[in-house]
Amino acid sequence: DASMEPKDILRLDPLVVNQIAAGEVVTKPPNALKELLENALDAGASTISVEVEGGGLDRLRICDDGCGIKQSDLPLLCERHATSKLQKFEDLVDIETFGFRGEALASVSYVAKVHVTTKVRGDECAYKQSFRDGAPLGKPKACAAPDGTTITVEDMFHNFQIRRKILRGQVSEQYHQMVRVCGAYAVHYASKAISCRKAGHGSDLVTTGGTTLEALTAVHGSTTSSNLCELKCGQEGTDEKPLHFSLTGYVSKRCVETTRGTPQNKKDRFTLFINDRLVESTAIKRCVDEVYANRPDHVASTTSKPFAYLSLKVPGSHVDVNVHPTKKEVHFLYEAELCQALQRALEPLAAKHADTRTLAQLS
Ligand code: ADP
Ligand code: MG
Repeated sequence: DASMEPKDILRLDPLVVNQIAAGEVVTKPPNALKELLENALDAGASTISVEVEGGGLDRLRICDDGCGIKQSDLPLLCERHATSKLQKFEDLVDIETFGFRGEALASVSYVAKVHVTTKVRGDECAYKQSFRDGAPLGKPKACAAPDGTTITVEDMFHNFQIRRKILRGQVSEQYHQMVRVCGAYAVHYASKAISCRKAGHGSDLVTTGGTTLEALTAVHGSTTSSNLCELKCGQEGTDEKPLHFSLTGYVSKRCVETTRGTPQNKKDRFTLFINDRLVESTAIKRCVDEVYANRPDHVASTTSKPFAYLSLKVPGSHVDVNVHPTKKEVHFLYEAELCQALQRALEPLAAKHADTRTLAQLS
């Protein structure tokens, strides 16, 4: 029987290896956008504008006024594991940039066509360069452009036909997810001006650089933002209680009915940044929801939920950032202790506002 014969084991071609890996890092346009946004923030940009065509499948353009990329660095820009941010494994614990693995632009260039225009402040001119499959196409060309970097990503998943077809059927969902990603960063980096729009349309999201509450209003509307109160708590770690954290943010005074509005809006009532990284933590989300669900005035309804934007800072050694780029769910040390502390901080806030409403209703 021929099928019983073992087949030769062969090494995969590096191009195939990189394509497979890239397809795992960039699974849909919103995660490409997140990486590009983080690069712009890492570059110190204060204004970032995003333009999307065809749910990001046709074109995704992100323009920043950050530090730019040196002409001599351009050839390495999309090479896998080439980064300006990390050198030693030990540095990972206290890394302050979003990026560190030099994988994002490389991955994007294996699933799409990448064009970069960049100018370093003080340089005489800008340079543009296109990339495909991790490598530059030709030499950088001098051109005119403002300080900063514009990255254009075209025909995403042109080489992943089935994925492209599936995503083609979810263009508006993809776009909404991108607006959500921009919104989360626009709130967390409230001093930056961040905008997102469909090509040829007005902006669906604009912040102009101001306070967190102003950004929350711009992103989530004044109905949501006028129902918020500020949260601030923290704890110094000791030998017996090693949990060390500070938590800031805004939470609802009262729960909001989450069935109203578009299905997209439902999901962004909870935004969590840990050490400035946009992450998901089912444990923390559940613990916030519980505080509100236990309030005396809570309407026993599964659709009535609080809004929360939380920024948690913990020592780098408490949280593992070395996770896969698309694995947003994080786990950290002392999770249970942290949830307890968070509930203790939320309860008085929740109770205070619960009382106000009960009194108002009585009078
Ligand atoms: P990482 O962010 O992990 O280093 P990336 O693939 O995202 O990897 O980016 C590779 C490198 O390209 C970065 O280290 C940075 O030096 C440079 N870079 C990427 N985007 C920008 C940008 N918008 N402005 C300036 N430099 C950038
Ligand atoms: Mg990066």
